[in-house]
Amino acid sequence: MDERVMERAGETLRAGGLVAFPTETVYGLGGSALDAQAARRIYEAKGRPSDNPLIVHVADMEHLERIVREVPDAARRLAEAFWPGPLTMILNKNELVPYGTTGGLETVAVRMPSDGIALELIRRGGGYVAAPSANTSGRPSPTTAQHVFEDMDGRIPMILDGGPVSIGLESTIVDLTEEIPTILRPGYISLEMVQAVLGEARMDRGLISDDSGVRPKAPGMKYRHYAPRADLKIVEGPVDRVVSYINEQADRPGRVGIICTEETKGRYPKGDVKCIGTRKNELSIASHLFAVLREFDEDGVEAIYSESFRAPGLGEAIMNRLLKAAGHQKIDVTDRS
Ligand code: AMP
Ligand code: MG
Repeated sequence: MDERVMERAGETLRAGGLVAFPTETVYGLGGSALDAQAARRIYEAKGRPSDNPLIVHVADMEHLERIVREVPDAARRLAEAFWPGPLTMILNKNELVPYGTTGGLETVAVRMPSDGIALELIRRGGGYVAAPSANTSGRPSPTTAQHVFEDMDGRIPMILDGGPVSIGLESTIVDLTEEIPTILRPGYISLEMVQAVLGEARMDRGLISDDSGVRPKAPGMKYRHYAPRADLKIVEGPVDRVVSYINEQADRPGRVGIICTEETKGRYPKGDVKCIGTRKNELSIASHLFAVLREFDEDGVEAIYSESFRAPGLGEAIMNRLLKAAGHQKIDVTDRS
């Protein structure tokens, strides 16, 4: 961390400008959260629909207290357990937070990241940094400074490079304005971890239901997201059947991409094979997912087939992102011979 660079980054934020920076989840595109103009610049740089609210990043508990109507007991307990870290809480906002930051909502999303550069930037930038993922709207979230550069070059004055992120999926969002604490977006902090602290918590029905009649509560979860340019499909079933199905698809003209793991990578003789990590360590899969989707864009494949990563805990978050990237296209090969 270079003192002069951090000072300039803080100044840029305080003057209403934008700075991209690393967090432990993904790279964020930061602007002052209490400045509606800065929020507008964020939406503009990302091409993000303005009804999709921003997460406010803070570096200490006192700053949380200053922007919400009250800090419920559940929020204190979750903060104690998981802050700084990959958990975002939805609370009722007060008049300090402009509607430009919350997409017109009376509630505000708040997180305290654990990354050292992020914390230092928040402190120097005035204490409240609105920061969505630093990708162009619709593209996979950036997990390296290079990804940010690809999407934001020429649009923002500064990118802080902290190397590759450690988690690679956006924060878990938990809504504390409802009677039962509700997870609106799965992430590294699982439902079980939240339940262990609060006793009671549930998943937003809009997330678990395949029935498209139920809308997710987080405005951002309704958008197509993370989508690679090629047509992506997820193949589910016993591993041998999955491998042979994908091999059949790869055996045809046109470039076919394959997303697999250490355990299966030697079994795909054809296609553009990308090993995403190992099933023995789900974090290795989470942290490479978005980078792999971006690589396929560069390779120019026409179709992508991915193995499925369904599992409790982090697997929920991985599958949530992968299914969105695939526009929910799944192929179940369980009954194929
Ligand atoms: P990103 O900034 O790209 O990590 O996305 C932020 C996510 O948080 C989006 O899905 C938003 O819709 C969601 N979000 C932010 N603020 C709120 C809020 N007040 N209520 C519900 N969801 C929110
Ligand atoms: Mg995003």
